[in-house]
Amino acid sequence: MKYISTRGAAPALTFEEVTLAGLARDGGLYVPESIPTLSPAEIRDLAGLSYVETAVRILTPFLGGALPEADLRALLTEAYGHFDHKAVAPLKQLDERHWILELFHGPTLAFKDFALQVLGLLFERFLATRNEHLTVIGATSGDTGSAAIHALAGRDNLDIVMLHPQGRVSDVQRRQMTTVMAPNVHNVAIQGTFDDCQALVKAMFNDQPFRDRHRLSAVNSINWTRLLVQVVYYFYAAVRLGAPERQVAFSVPTGNFGDVFAGYIAHAMGLPIERLIVATNTNDILHRALTKGDYSVGTVAPTSSPSMDIQISSNFERLLFDLHGRDGTALAATMADFEKNRRMHLNADQRATAARLFVSFSADEDDTALSLRRVYAESGLVLDPHTAVGVAAAWAQAPADRHIPVVTLSTAHPAKFRDAVERATGQRPAMPPRAQGLFDREERYTTLPNDLAAVEAFIAERMAE
Ligand SMILES: *Cc1c(COP(=O)(O)O)cnc(C)c1O
Repeated sequence: MKYISTRGAAPALTFEEVTLAGLARDGGLYVPESIPTLSPAEIRDLAGLSYVETAVRILTPFLGGALPEADLRALLTEAYGHFDHKAVAPLKQLDERHWILELFHGPTLAFKDFALQVLGLLFERFLATRNEHLTVIGATSGDTGSAAIHALAGRDNLDIVMLHPQGRVSDVQRRQMTTVMAPNVHNVAIQGTFDDCQALVKAMFNDQPFRDRHRLSAVNSINWTRLLVQVVYYFYAAVRLGAPERQVAFSVPTGNFGDVFAGYIAHAMGLPIERLIVATNTNDILHRALTKGDYSVGTVAPTSSPSMDIQISSNFERLLFDLHGRDGTALAATMADFEKNRRMHLNADQRATAARLFVSFSADEDDTALSLRRVYAESGLVLDPHTAVGVAAAWAQAPADRHIPVVTLSTAHPAKFRDAVERATGQRPAMPPRAQGLFDREERYTTLPNDLAAVEAFIAERMAE
């Protein structure tokens, strides 16, 4: 199994290489050369398997022998052993046909733990065999930073430096990062915005001597292996609701088009997904692109679902690659134009191809609050605002055929966003046991100005120790 770049001009990589790589050298994203498929009989065989066993079956064809099966199983058992629900990804029923898939039982209470817990273990393993050290750097507006830190804390052969904008992440989000005391974790509060943090990370990657000296790497959502690991829960849920005999629809709260692209891969592998509902908040570039062909960058509006407050959906490029007939040269030209003009138009053919699987919906703040309240009233479940965006979209875009169940991915625990949840429902969600004590623990982080030289000096000093 080889991985190729969406822009056609970077070398093909193995699974191990693509796991450790971020962006391709031609600026593109890596995708598999071809998608392995499962027959209906193989999908039927997944019924009743544990989450870990399901993952072994789904991931193996993508690995190209990078890991013996027993090692893969041990690694996945370790990754998902930290989850606090035995089902790992439990389904809950909202009404006759609507379900939610709870993806927040990992260490940092958001779905990003699914991929990052596995990625952390793969990094450690691959770096040990190569006898290499990496410095993972990242910028976070909240969920990614804590999930990455919990995945990499204490691991050999790597350090993690995470920049967050001072005073602009929630107390829960900050403490989930800064109370991790492992010596290879370095939290930095930047006196600036999230965009400033991202610009600093980009500048460090563009500083070639610095990048090479410290062997910089990234674990952001463009990493192929993160997406791959998320394919598993689509199979796990669909099989429990009757696949392959029965079709299933999914509604996915989306920002970077990562999670929903994992659903697209599941469909390409043969899972009978009737539709994927792309659920955005008012930052609706994906909704505009899919309905009107208008993929143009606006300004970010803050909402109660902040992890989806983004304008450019980096993983959308992977779908665009298929919509360009997998022609990397053609897509490279489109992307160069987009990077210059900040807009792109999807033609009628491309829209029609996408519409065979994707529909979309943009939920505003009223829709979000209404779905939080309605779900609480109808089923007693308290959702988080990101999940509520997904449920609003599921109601609006459910298939006409009522035999098809609709599963909304529940991407975060409500306690992570308890102010917004309390405003809408009057219920203040309790912290789950693993997060209790978060406010009693010691915090450790360094505050730095929004200045490249200062951040690089800090990293050089820490890595010298
Ligand atoms: C990251 C995140 C999302 C969006 O995920 P994408 O993969 O970018 O689409 C949705 N909800 C929560 C809670 C998140 O942390």
